[in-house]
Amino acid sequence: RPGAQDAERPGHTHCPYCALQCAMSVTPTTGGVAEVTPEWFPTNRGGLCRKGWTAGDLLGHPDRLTTPLIRRDGRLQPCDWDTALDRVVDGIRRAQAAGGPDGVAVFGGGGLTNEKAYQLGKFTRLALGSRLIDYNGRWCMSSAAAAANRSFGLDRGLPFPVTDLSGARAVLLIGANPADTMPPFLQHLGTAAAAGGLIVADPRLSATARRALDGGGVHLRLRPGTDAALALGLLHLVVVTGAVDTRYLAARTTGFEDAWAHAAAWLPERTERVTGVSVALLERAVRLLADARDAGAGSYILTARGAEQHADGTSVVGAVIALALALGLPGRPRTGYGTLTGQGNGQGGREHGQKADQLPGYRMITDPDARTHVAAVWDVEPEQIPGPGLSAFELLDSLGQPGGPTAMLLHASNPVVSAPDADRVAERLRALDTLVVADFVLSETAALADVVLPVPQWAEEEGTLTNLEGRVLRRRRSITPPAGARDELWIWHELARRLDRGPERFPTDPRAVFDELARASAGGKADYSAVDWDRLDAGEVLHWPCGADSPAGTPRLFLDRFATPDGRARFMIDAPRTPAEPTDAAFPLLATTGRLLAHYQSGAQTRRVGELAAAEPRMWVQVHPVVARAAGLTDGAAARVVSRRGSVEAEVRCDEDMRTDTLFLPFHFAGTGRANLLTLPELDPHSRMPEFKVCAVRLEAAA
Ligand code: SF4
Repeated sequence: RPGAQDAERPGHTHCPYCALQCAMSVTPTTGGVAEVTPEWFPTNRGGLCRKGWTAGDLLGHPDRLTTPLIRRDGRLQPCDWDTALDRVVDGIRRAQAAGGPDGVAVFGGGGLTNEKAYQLGKFTRLALGSRLIDYNGRWCMSSAAAAANRSFGLDRGLPFPVTDLSGARAVLLIGANPADTMPPFLQHLGTAAAAGGLIVADPRLSATARRALDGGGVHLRLRPGTDAALALGLLHLVVVTGAVDTRYLAARTTGFEDAWAHAAAWLPERTERVTGVSVALLERAVRLLADARDAGAGSYILTARGAEQHADGTSVVGAVIALALALGLPGRPRTGYGTLTGQGNGQGGREHGQKADQLPGYRMITDPDARTHVAAVWDVEPEQIPGPGLSAFELLDSLGQPGGPTAMLLHASNPVVSAPDADRVAERLRALDTLVVADFVLSETAALADVVLPVPQWAEEEGTLTNLEGRVLRRRRSITPPAGARDELWIWHELARRLDRGPERFPTDPRAVFDELARASAGGKADYSAVDWDRLDAGEVLHWPCGADSPAGTPRLFLDRFATPDGRARFMIDAPRTPAEPTDAAFPLLATTGRLLAHYQSGAQTRRVGELAAAEPRMWVQVHPVVARAAGLTDGAAARVVSRRGSVEAEVRCDEDMRTDTLFLPFHFAGTGRANLLTLPELDPHSRMPEFKVCAVRLEAAA
């Protein structure tokens, strides 16, 4: 039903998981299990992946938290809400008496609705007076966001609707595996795949890379950590083969000469030597992109976490954007560059003020005009808004340390599984005087808490999210939450009341919060000021910016000008760095991590869904048989992967298509199967993204 929109129907909502935000309706059934029915929507066209199909299973799951828990005698025990909130307030008062306002820190998540992301930032800065808030999206989109802001002056994951990709004849994916992470998205790559124009850069033969090869496309099987070199090598070839769009460069960009000063050294043979990708495949990739562009047949470049989750992730994405600019793709119809957002509200989550350095409207917290605008909406003086805080890992690493916070409120995140150097982070959380976790199941992080607050799930709440193409969507309640769960908006209001810190500033009605959010965003980069729930409920298609100058929304960005002061896109290239952690005799292999079709993020939700747990019940490591044999291992054997920070126990899965220098580990599992026990908290200088995607390891038999 092309043109059908997000119609107003009871139960019509969107999947709780990834940023594709597939549409579905949810119907309560007897026995506590809700039935999910797919709906037509432009991003999913009626499709769901197995995570979406089974999303209802968690609503009535026996693991649901239905009462607050408080730690007594070393054990979490049920209690009533008054007791739990009194304990939280005591913890906040104690921490702030000892450490001032910053004695309390807050950690949010990219799964929170827009309203909750906004309110959490405001609650932290006004009710707690703390500057210390950041969220798990720092580990998701921050490098892509920083690079897009540097080059385009604006960061919106896809600056065009997903459906624009559908007719494209050539699409280059760098570090993206949507066949596992968001399968319905593959519909939009169908033309490219069928035409042999799907190009996938990935160290392993992922399901998406297989799809490319099946259609006659290209797999660029690069060495982990050489993404920037790959992009610069491709940029070099674009120039020397005459595929560069010189008129576009002159009219719409600045800085090409500086970029070429870097790319000139990336001769094809050198690129092949560093990345492991043959010159012939590099040339073919460039030819496919340029030919599709010249034929007006659609030519796009997309990145995702494989390219971005590095200690030089911003530089990697900057090099990829430079490649796209040299080809003349961004800001034009039927061509473009974008990044595939990960978490369900990964886009909205970074726009409304739960990031350490930002205020609502995607404004920088250090910008005096931004502070004045937001202060007026909040009815405070600008000086009452604290300054920038610490990025996610730095914040967690400071917990319980001398001069650091001694209390933390944590929402919609599970860093004991998802943080780099995960055991170090778990130690920091244990060092707190008061850890408060709001969740709907007892995640690995909640299990360490002093107080656990049960909250509703997706199908039990009202609000909005913003999907990977910047479209604002309604999340609708279809199911009544368990009697003991309380909405986060109520929790923050109640804490502000008990702390006597202006509870009237924290309404519990999500619609009222959205209206305030929209006012706070007015004139900002992510302007929602012309969006309201009535328009969304009437089925209007609203992509931000949607404000006084753009009341109909902006599905396609940059068609006339980029959001930089001079309207031109900027080439931003840094010299590729050497890997943050080189291999050596003790740690001779490279480990890279990623997602599986059956699981989502830290797995706290999907590991509890029977069908998904049965499909992928335990941790495994994918390895070339030659590498397994060298370690005395065979397929199915119990192995240990060891890095300088820790070790992971995993079942060996031999795969002839793996590189012989690389292991792959999924990051959804708990306990001794946590891939992030290995990863390295080296941080990107611009985005503060950790080096998730490559670290030096060795493989050995489990004891
Ligand atoms: Fe769609 Fe993503 Fe949900 Fe799968 S997980 S159904 S791709 S929104």
